[in-house]
Order: sequence, then C-alpha cells, then structure tokens
Amino acid sequence: MILNRISPFAVAIFATQLAAQSLSPITLIKAGRLLDPRSGNVLAPTAVIIKDGKIKEVGPPAKVQAPSGTNIIDLGSATLLPGLIDSHTHLLMDCVLPTEAERARHLNGGYAPEQLLAIVESPSKRVLLGAQMAREDLESGITTVRNLGHSGIDGDTELRDAINAGRFPGPRILASGRKLITRGDYVQNLNPALADAILEQEFLLIDGVDRARQAVRQNVFHNVDVIKVTADENLTVPELAAAIEEAHRSHLKVAVHAIDKTSIQTAIDAGADSIEHGNEVTDAQLTQMRDKGIFFDFTPTSYGSFFTEAFEGTLAESLTLRAERLKADEGDRQRYNDLAERILKSGFVGGFEASDNQLYDNLVQRVLKSGVKFAAGTDMSWHYPGKTRGQTSVSRFPTLHEAGMPSLDVIRAITTSAAEMLGLQDRIGSIEAGKFADLIAVAGDPIADISELERVHFVMKDGRVIKNDFQENQSK
Ligand SMILES: [Zn+2]
Repeated sequence: MILNRISPFAVAIFATQLAAQSLSPITLIKAGRLLDPRSGNVLAPTAVIIKDGKIKEVGPPAKVQAPSGTNIIDLGSATLLPGLIDSHTHLLMDCVLPTEAERARHLNGGYAPEQLLAIVESPSKRVLLGAQMAREDLESGITTVRNLGHSGIDGDTELRDAINAGRFPGPRILASGRKLITRGDYVQNLNPALADAILEQEFLLIDGVDRARQAVRQNVFHNVDVIKVTADENLTVPELAAAIEEAHRSHLKVAVHAIDKTSIQTAIDAGADSIEHGNEVTDAQLTQMRDKGIFFDFTPTSYGSFFTEAFEGTLAESLTLRAERLKADEGDRQRYNDLAERILKSGFVGGFEASDNQLYDNLVQRVLKSGVKFAAGTDMSWHYPGKTRGQTSVSRFPTLHEAGMPSLDVIRAITTSAAEMLGLQDRIGSIEAGKFADLIAVAGDPIADISELERVHFVMKDGRVIKNDFQENQSK
C-alpha cells in the first residue's frame, strides 16, 4: 500500500481551521477557575487563548497576552473543564422501553423488539435520529464520543463525516461500524429465511479465524476508527486474537464487550485494548489487565433507578399521548391522569436495578484498588421521557461517584483517561496548548458537587461556541 489511510481527524482539522479562521482569528476565554483533571490542580483565575480551533495558551489572565481585536468570552466565576468524552455510546439507537407484557414475548425482550425495528426500518430515518442524538450530546458538554455499534452498516461513519463536514453540530465521533459478534448474541427468534439478511445489516459474524479477519477488513473499508467485538462464551481466543491482529495492522484499537468471567478472560488472553462493561471481572483478572495495560471501561447505565424512572416516564408519556389522541374532553383526560398516577404509585415496575447497584458499589472499589487504567461510557441507547439524549447521558457520570469513586477520578474517566483509551491523548482530554479547543464550563465546583456535570452552561468544540448560557447573566 502506497498511501496510508487518511484519518477522518485530519479532514476534521482542516474543516475546523477554515471555519474558525472565517469567524474570528483569536478568542480569549476568561473564567474564575480551570480544573486540570490530570493533576487535580485548579488555576484561578484563568485565561485561555484559542486560535485556529486549537488551544494556543493557558495561564493566569495577567500573563496571557491577547492581541487587539481578540474576541473575548468572559465566563465570570465559572469553572472551565475539558470537553467530556463518552467512551461507549450508541447514537443511532433510542429504544423505548417496552411494557412487561411485550418484554415477556421475546428473548431479551427489553431490547430485541426495538433493536429489530431499528435494523429493518429505513437507514435514512435512523441516521437522522443519530444526528439529533449527536447534537443533544454536544449541547450537554460531550465533545467526543466513541460509538460502539448498532448503527447499521455505515450509519456512524457517515454521521461522523457529516459532522466533520459542518453539515450539523455534533461531537467528534470515533465510529466502529458493525459490531463483530458470534451467532446468537442479538435478536434471536428471527424468521429463518431472513435471519442472515437481517443480521448482516447490523453485525459481522465471526465464525472462525478467517471470518474474523475478513470482518475487520470489511469495517476498514468503511473507514472505521475502532473495532468493536462482542465476546461471549462461544468466541475463541484464536478468533478474537486474529481480529485484534488485523485491527492493529490498520492502527485501530479493539473494544471488547465482555460481561462474564470466561469472555473477560478471552479478551485478556487475546490482547484487547479495552474491556467494556466487565461486570464479572475477578481481582486476578484486574491484575492481568493492569499488567497488560488493558483499559476497563465502566458503563453505569442502569445504576440508581434509571430504568424504573425511564419506564415510569414512558408510561406517563404514553397515557398523555393517548388522551390527546382521543381528543379527550376534560373528564377523559382526568381519567387517564388518575390511571397514570395509580400505575406509577403501585410500584410494579423496577427490579432492573437492585443487582446492578450492588455490583457497581463493589466493582468501583475493586477497580480503584487494582490500579488498572479505567474510563467510563454511558452505553446510552434509551429513550428517557422529558430529557434530551445529552441530559440522559451526562446523568450517568455522577453515578460512579455514588458508587464510591472520588469526583476527580470520575472526571478523569471522562476526560484524560478516556482520551488515552481512545489513543487521542495528544489531541483531547485536557486544556493544554496544542490540543483541540474542546472546553466546557459549569457554574460551581465539580469536585465538591459532581452533579455540576449535569448542568454544563458553556460548550466549545474545535474553537467554536456551541452554547453559552452565561452570556445572558453577564449582559445584565
Ligand atoms: Zn453498548
């Protein structure tokens, strides 16, 4: 091969530089505080100079020289942080939680019906959903995501390229293309005559070492940034090792979904770059991961009462929509409202979370103690009534603190450490000269109150202001 693959990031940099130059050559951001996640140090007050979409200089305002004509953004007493990184998400899925009766009709009934719909409906419809999810993530402060599957054949790579081309706002995306799986991991009970045709829209089946290599090459053809493999007990070490070797030949990292002990061991032995979820990891396995430099990627999606709340919201939303659809008079509307309230008060939902919460309280402590490198992702693919995708996603990060992780470690898991796991530590994850100008700001101190991450008021990506709620206050 004569030419190396052209990195989508290289294309993004050129596009960004052109856009930034045409707006204003230099921007100065002033803020009360700047948190460096790596050291935990706070610079107060602080000034950051942005040029050509990149950070040029960081320091105390007195020492940072801005030339005349500089565009100044004063964020008052706010705290600046690097843009957040969601290391595990699914922008092209927005599953509505099914009712208990519907769940009972399917294998993996909580997920399979919506997953199947997403595959067989129009890919155009799906990618437009992805565009909305992407914009909403960015508006909540997530400036980079690693999208790990459930995107059709090229949905996430096309979404990435469209954002990079400036067609609509969204985070920088590392796209995995199709997930590599062994037969039987997702959407079973398909019509046998159609099963393979359906599965191939969403997955690449690993069935032997050669198929594993071929699957990686198929994704490379679509210019993916990362390879995602779902490991289960059927996946062999030689199969996974072949996929990983092939990916590494194309300079791609491999993220392996592994829940049970056997799959986690397969991922470790085959040399995965990160293990996703890792629920049943043993202390001995954590030590092996640490020694091999394999990242542990937390996905605290269901921690707390996430699914109960999401499902209750879905029920209430459904009843409200039904009342409206019937063009109900006041009496009918009241009847539906009463019914919704009775259902919600009856507390019949739930049971999703109890085991997960216990697991996480224990897992967080063991991972911290092991010294293994870790990051965090939301694994978000769920419709949460009343919240945007971004609001739903950022609500997951503080749960790691609830499970016992110090605030600074939580912030590292979604900034500096995540950047390292993605192989982008020289470009994102901290506010330093030479890095992309991806910055966010919160009103308070996120170390004292980690829930500040759920209230991001200022977002800049590649030197462009995406949102600034502070401006209104300042003009008064
Ligand atoms: Zn996932």
